[in-house]
Amino acid sequence: MKYIFISGGVISGIGKGIATASIALLLKSAGYKVTPLKMDPYLNVDAGTMNPLTHGETFVLDDGRETDQDLGHYERYLNQSLNSHSIHTQGSIYLSVIQKERNLEYDGDSVDINNVTQEIIRRIQVAGKETDADIVLIEIGGTAGEYQNVLFLEANRLLKLKKPNDVAHVHITYLPVIPSIGEMKSKPAQMSVKDLNAAGIMPDILLARSPFNIDLPRIKKLAFATGLEPEDIIPAPDVRNIYEVPLNFENASLTARLLKKIKLRRRNKDLAEWKSFVKKVEAANKPLKIAIVGKYFATGEFTLADSYVSVIESLRQAAFSLGLRPEVSWIDASAVLKDPKLLHGYQGIIVPGGFGARDIEGKIVAIKYAREKKIPYFGLCYGMQLATVEFARNVLGLKDANSTEVDPKSSNPIIHIMPDQEKKVLEKDYGGTMRLGAWECVIKDNTLVRKLYGKKHISERHRHRYEFNNDYREAIEKKGLKIAGTSPDGHLVEIVELEKHPFFIGTQFHPELKGRPLDPHPLFLGFVEASAKVRV
Ligand code: GLN
Repeated sequence: MKYIFISGGVISGIGKGIATASIALLLKSAGYKVTPLKMDPYLNVDAGTMNPLTHGETFVLDDGRETDQDLGHYERYLNQSLNSHSIHTQGSIYLSVIQKERNLEYDGDSVDINNVTQEIIRRIQVAGKETDADIVLIEIGGTAGEYQNVLFLEANRLLKLKKPNDVAHVHITYLPVIPSIGEMKSKPAQMSVKDLNAAGIMPDILLARSPFNIDLPRIKKLAFATGLEPEDIIPAPDVRNIYEVPLNFENASLTARLLKKIKLRRRNKDLAEWKSFVKKVEAANKPLKIAIVGKYFATGEFTLADSYVSVIESLRQAAFSLGLRPEVSWIDASAVLKDPKLLHGYQGIIVPGGFGARDIEGKIVAIKYAREKKIPYFGLCYGMQLATVEFARNVLGLKDANSTEVDPKSSNPIIHIMPDQEKKVLEKDYGGTMRLGAWECVIKDNTLVRKLYGKKHISERHRHRYEFNNDYREAIEKKGLKIAGTSPDGHLVEIVELEKHPFFIGTQFHPELKGRPLDPHPLFLGFVEASAKVRV
């Protein structure tokens, strides 16, 4: 088994996730089985308790593990589903060491930080074995030189000492351009390599991130200062679309250089599908105006695009494959409540997932607008739940209909908590109270979703605490909001679909978590197709 560690330097947010995903795709296309994994310095045990505005979107895997958006990048580029072996927070690592100690599994030895480093190495090796990987890619979170991630670098150093021919390190560094003089500077990049050297690591490849292409004199300067060959410094300028990144790396011979470092030969060269997808992206020129109505819009370290990255990606994949260029507008639900005219001029409306009572009335206004004006509507999780609330209020006339998440005293709790989960929530045991991960759903015949999926049995990823209240099934169906999909036992409502509407679909699951560039999600394709027909 081979191991490639990937670290970042100089600044955070230079696209380590995209770079790791791109390298994974290149090695896969070279004929190897690749398992990417992320070592995240956070002490949170998983990403489930993190606010999307401070940490970006919470991505959920089939096995229910809550992770950060980098896992989404890995899955999208590799077109492959991952599992818990691909995400390790420092919190989860410490937790297992301490649990082991409490279980007397260290045989009376004193337990110290080296045991944590050993646990990191163990997990990397187990991940490779369990997934039958030829190459394990390890993205190290954080930035070289800070102390939060030193144990991951130490694990890298030790593994390299044990297996010098099987371990390589790719360092993603940054060369800023000073605005007043327009000149690219290599000193911070040199210093970040020094930081790695101080941790006992000599990088094998440098990815030179910069606003524009690094030139030859600077490549030579960096090579000279770091001791690398100029061929091992790979230009990584800003790109218009992130899907170009693997192709740029390939053109700069990254795959060949990297394989050489870990003593492997290229078995295969198969980037044709990815290339044709990138061509489609470039050719898509017909604009498609979509409104996303949500609430995680305050600007913090992470932008709204980070909070909804999978929704945007799924939308883009579907649109590009149909020759359309999505223009996404973020509409703050609280603003819609004050001025519903903000919704004019859009060809489709999405209400994505969300939590809590704030701003739901604005989302309900948007849903009513889409329903009445026959604008394609796609409700993702909370967006599905609120669509049933809107329908109950405005079509069934149940004025106080609500989710108990918003109004626990509603006399028409059309969305409520599953009885077995209620106890845990009351006990404030929030970890583990959600329905998480992939669950099967059975689709009803003669529905639009059945036609779009082209099959009856599907599996989609979930992350929610509340469910549709079955007492209201008959009433909503009678008035035209069909239960189009349920759990296999028929007990849980998974999909609702409005009759006599070009596209009004709500899913209790998150279809956006399964959208892939090379395999756009059928429901997003249906939504985009219906939206493209709307004239504005
Ligand atoms: N807040 C809702 C629930 O917990 C919806 C969650 C979501 O949109 N992911 O059920």
